[in-house]
Amino acid sequence: MKQTISITKATQPKPRPTDETRLGFGRLFTDHMFMMNYSSEQGWHDARIVPFDYIPVYPASTVFHYGTEIFEGMKAYRTKEGRVQMFRPLENVRRMNISAERLCLPQLDEAFALHALETLITLEQDWVPRLEGTSLYIRPFMYGDDPHLGVHAVECATFVIICSPVGAYYPEGMNPVKIAIESEDVRAVRGGTGYTKCGGNYAASLRAGQRAQKMGYTQVLWLDGVERKYIEEVGSMNVMFKIGGEIVTPALTGSVLPGITRKSCIALLREWGYTVTERLISIDELKQAADDGRLEEAWGTGTAAVVSPIGQLFYLDETHTINHNQIGPVTQRLYDQLTAIQWGKVPDTHGWCHPVC
Ligand code: PMP
Repeated sequence: MKQTISITKATQPKPRPTDETRLGFGRLFTDHMFMMNYSSEQGWHDARIVPFDYIPVYPASTVFHYGTEIFEGMKAYRTKEGRVQMFRPLENVRRMNISAERLCLPQLDEAFALHALETLITLEQDWVPRLEGTSLYIRPFMYGDDPHLGVHAVECATFVIICSPVGAYYPEGMNPVKIAIESEDVRAVRGGTGYTKCGGNYAASLRAGQRAQKMGYTQVLWLDGVERKYIEEVGSMNVMFKIGGEIVTPALTGSVLPGITRKSCIALLREWGYTVTERLISIDELKQAADDGRLEEAWGTGTAAVVSPIGQLFYLDETHTINHNQIGPVTQRLYDQLTAIQWGKVPDTHGWCHPVC
């Protein structure tokens, strides 16, 4: 089915931010949003771009009661020539369909979802900030809104895309973060929803995140939900370690989100000649490597932070410092190369950049 997107422009566009050093993250939104509705009889319909506003949602909607919600996080970047491009957007659309399948939400047509993203970003292009390190964060999300109670697979859904100009993730430069390894709560189990980007995963992670923050740690590193023995991922990042010259990262066993930054870093590292192994990494192995000096570097990967050095790991009353709390050379090289590709500073030899306007 060929759908068209109707556009209703905002009559009172908001003033653009004048100081791009103070954008922060996800607090300011652009003038418009994309929406479309789904019903099992009609499929996806009524694709539209409308002024950014509240969305009326019926109180009996499944999203409020059974958490039928999934989302994505991606960015549009302004190149030095002033053009706007996305980074591997099809990967996000595909991952959203994987999440939708798990939560019994409807599938998106990949080409149409890309078209919706391009149309919205083109309309909002003035909102893509220009300052080095800034970007337009794009948040597509989908929720079930059947208007009746009773646990059931979704028959009605809404898909929305909103955009937020965001600041440089490291306004004062890239600094190693302190991470607490969680020994009590778990985020996901195999067979559950850990490999999807559904709101429930994040709701389940908040308590441990709060505890870690109270203790002065930035994020939580999760262990597997069954044995609480194997490293999984950080709050909003995948993790990689350089141990004795080799790079290791937790295998995608079903409870870890398959990060697009992770996939891109693995490709770059292999091109640079590193051995990258995706496997189970136990907390004992990591502690041992830290204690005998073989844990050379650790970093997180994700759309928001790109590549984030980990300087300290806290586990069961012990602190393990990595690389003297300094940014390691592999971490720095990955950050430099990925950001150079994303902001169009180097040729895109992988076909990862998706020009928009
Ligand atoms: N793990 C989790 C739980 C996340 O929320 C994210 C951010 N999307 C990531 C990993 C990193 O994924 P990506 O590189 O695709 O942003």
